[in-house]
Formats: sequence, C-alpha cells, structure tokens
Amino acid sequence: MAKILIVEDNEMNRDMLSRRLERRGYVIAIAVDGGAGVEKARTEAPDLILMDVSLPVMDGWEASRRIKGDPATAAIPIIALTAHAMTSDRDKSLKAGCNDYDTKPVELPRLLGKIEALLKNPPAPPAPAPPA
Ligand code: MN
Repeated sequence: MAKILIVEDNEMNRDMLSRRLERRGYVIAIAVDGGAGVEKARTEAPDLILMDVSLPVMDGWEASRRIKGDPATAAIPIIALTAHAMTSDRDKSLKAGCNDYDTKPVELPRLLGKIEALLKNPPAPPAPAPPA
C-alpha cells in the first residue's frame, strides 16, 4: 500500500488525518516541522506528501521547494494544505512546486480524490535547474 508522509505541526490535525488515512489502508509517516519534512521525504521515501504550509522551523512552501529541488525526492507528489482558501496561497503552493492544493479543515472524500489521482498518475518531476 502507498506510504503518505504527513507534515503537520498541529497534533490534533496530525492524529486525526493519520488515523483516517490508516483506516483506508495507507501507511503513514509523520514529520512535525518543515525541516523534518524535508529530511523524512528522503529517509521515508513516501509515495506522496501532505504538506501543511504553516509550520515551524521552515514553512511548507520552503520545504516543498527543497524537496522538489533535490533529485532524490523531486518526483514525490506534494499536496499543500492550508487553512486559508486564498488564491494567493494556492499560487504560492504551485510556485513552490506542489502538485495540488487543498484547504483545512480537511474534507476527506475530496482529499482522498486528490491523493488517488496523484498516486495513479504521478506528475513528472520538475526539470533540474540549468547549470549556472
Ligand atoms: Mn500548521
């Protein structure tokens, strides 16, 4: 079964989301801040990442940029999660390399649809930066 890395600093959100996804059969890995998210993207090699954008140490956008900038993790699909249904947050997420975006509180059927779509059709990793 697919492994999902949840990067979320709020313990209640984290526990609820991981329980609900485990019940659907997903294997869950957890990171509680942006720096740990980047690290676990490498060590856990998840099939997909759910990335809260508001995180301590390093925000979810910066963490996503780093994950997408590292050839070892660039191909992992990322869904950004934010509390704000703002277009600017969506644009910021896509610019940071996230492949999709959803808002909190999570509506599980909608989020599952996005997860399943990305797992079924993994997007091409971003092209590596041209040599300077
Ligand atoms: Mn947060």
